[in-house]
Amino acid sequence: MSASTWSIQPDDHVRLVKAAFEAKEFAYCRYSNFRVGAALLTTTGEIIKGANIENASYGGTICAERTAFVKAVSEGVRSFTALAVVTDVASAISPCGMCRQVIREFCAENMPILLVPADYEKRLAEGIPNGGVKETSIGELLPDSFGPEDLERPRGQ
Ligand SMILES: [Zn+2]
Repeated sequence: MSASTWSIQPDDHVRLVKAAFEAKEFAYCRYSNFRVGAALLTTTGEIIKGANIENASYGGTICAERTAFVKAVSEGVRSFTALAVVTDVASAISPCGMCRQVIREFCAENMPILLVPADYEKRLAEGIPNGGVKETSIGELLPDSFGPEDLERPRGQ
C-alpha cells in the first residue's frame, strides 16, 4: 500500500474488486477488444459500476472509469472513498490521462485507487496479499495537477 493513500476496510476492498470484475462483463469494446471494468465506492457505502463503451465513430468512446463517474454524478452522487479498475491483462493497468483528470475533479488526492490484475483470484489462491492489487491515488497518478480550486485563484491585471 502506498503511504500517500488512506485505507479502506478489507470487506469493502473485496466487494469493490468483485464489482469491477462484474462491470467488465458489460464492456462494449468491439473495436479494441480491450474490456475494462470500474467500480466506485461512495461515502454511503454504495457501489457504482462502469464499463468501457466504444463507438463506431471512435471519438464517441467512453472509458469504464468515466462511465462510472458520469453515472454517479448524474444521479447526484459526488462523494467517493475508493475506485477499482480491472482489465483482462494479468498485470494492473492504470487509468488513461483523460480519466485521471476526471478522477481529479471528484476525488481527494489520496483516495485509494485499486488497480486489479485480471488473475486476482489466482493470486489470492496463491497467497499473494490482496491478490496483487496495486494501490495508488490520483495524487500519484496525476502530480502537479489542475483542479477545480485553481479556477478560484485570483488572476493578474
Ligand atoms: Zn480512460
